[in-house]
Amino acid sequence: MSHHRSVDARLGLALLVLGLLLSCAGNAEAAVAPGGIGAGGSVALADVTCVRQCVAVHKVRPGSTVRVRGLDLEEVREVVFRGSKGPIQVEPVQRTERAATAVVPEGAVAGRPYVIDQSGHQSAPSPHKLFILPGAPSPSSTPASGSAYPIAGKHELWEGFGGAREHGGADIGAACGTPLVAALTGTVESVKYEPRAGNYLVIDAGGVDADLIYMHMSAPSPLKVGTPVAVGTQVGTVGDTGNAQGCHLHFEYWIGEAWLGGEAVDPVPYLTQWEGSAG
Ligand SMILES: [Zn+2]
Repeated sequence: MSHHRSVDARLGLALLVLGLLLSCAGNAEAAVAPGGIGAGGSVALADVTCVRQCVAVHKVRPGSTVRVRGLDLEEVREVVFRGSKGPIQVEPVQRTERAATAVVPEGAVAGRPYVIDQSGHQSAPSPHKLFILPGAPSPSSTPASGSAYPIAGKHELWEGFGGAREHGGADIGAACGTPLVAALTGTVESVKYEPRAGNYLVIDAGGVDADLIYMHMSAPSPLKVGTPVAVGTQVGTVGDTGNAQGCHLHFEYWIGEAWLGGEAVDPVPYLTQWEGSAG
């Protein structure tokens, strides 16, 4: 149940941007063209990044799931990919104010996706190119060495990623003291305490450019920074330290480096996949 510093910082930035947009609209209402900044129903894209079945952050295959980030994205009607025979429109599988999620369609080719809102306005293309490799989706982004569910014991998903409070990870309830294990092979990157996160651990996952974060652990991880961990290695136990109501793991999955230019993505698809592979 934690909002940590980076979430608050991002939220602060978003509010600042929103404030600027609102003040622009207020001062120059008459000068704003339909579809421009401040016009009702217009949407603005910040980026399109891969969140599931990825090759890399901006490299995907048909079947990969991408997240469109920006403002007013609850208004998105279609995500438009470049196709070899013309634009391909896809309805998002999920939309929030600042994110819309869509599956890359067959036939899509490299380009800068854009979106169309409910009133038919088209956004500017994404500033970054999305590279689309041909062929079947990769079965998983997990390395061949396997994976494990991060909680070795009875557990229950309490709350997923995002939502109204911009939750940065997934909350998974489990009895205090239940072992926490490395979900992927990697290296212990940090073992720290923070008032909201409580005792937390960051694992730099090998080979997938991802960081895994475990929060609210009952005690500091016994592992030292730099220790290599294999899949299933115990890294701590479930607790309720920091800002936690009840014993649970707040788990985050970052593509790239956590808090250093990386991006927290929805960990639930990974958790579901790891659960399937466990046992
Ligand atoms: Zn949480």
